[in-house]
Amino acid sequence: MAALEQYRDKKILTYCTGGIKCEKASAYLLEQGFENVYQLHGGIIKYGIEQGGEDFEGKCYVFDNRLVVDVNQVNPSIISRCHVCGTACDRMVNCANADCNDHVALCERCGWEMEGACGPACQAQPNKRVYDGTGYYQKNTNGYDPYRAFKSMGKTIEPH
Ligand SMILES: [Zn+2]
Ligand SMILES: [Zn+2]
Repeated sequence: MAALEQYRDKKILTYCTGGIKCEKASAYLLEQGFENVYQLHGGIIKYGIEQGGEDFEGKCYVFDNRLVVDVNQVNPSIISRCHVCGTACDRMVNCANADCNDHVALCERCGWEMEGACGPACQAQPNKRVYDGTGYYQKNTNGYDPYRAFKSMGKTIEPH
């Protein structure tokens, strides 16, 4: 909470990305006495598609196999740097070493050079996962697919 104190008098906007519960964050802030708290109706992805996402800096980090999503189609910017070589880069990769599993920004070249690992230490791990260029590894869910029922009805689900 102390880290948030500096924002107490600011106008705050929370938004859904498909993974984070912005309702929870908003409720928490209100409970802590913050007064200017707003939520973006429909989530940030919808905002980007419908409004162009102008002035949104960087990309939107999400917790599923998309890893990052474009929001700004007007004046996009890259605000992160490759974890290994430091060049401007907005690719997110899930470290190939399952024991690390860190999500880091990794450029195309370093991705292949590190075999999808976040650095030399993880690259040296003998049991790391096979890098396919995406840096995403499906979690073991015993075959459970929460969307299967919808798919079989021929419907698709829009993440919000
Ligand atoms: Zn790099
Ligand atoms: Zn790692």
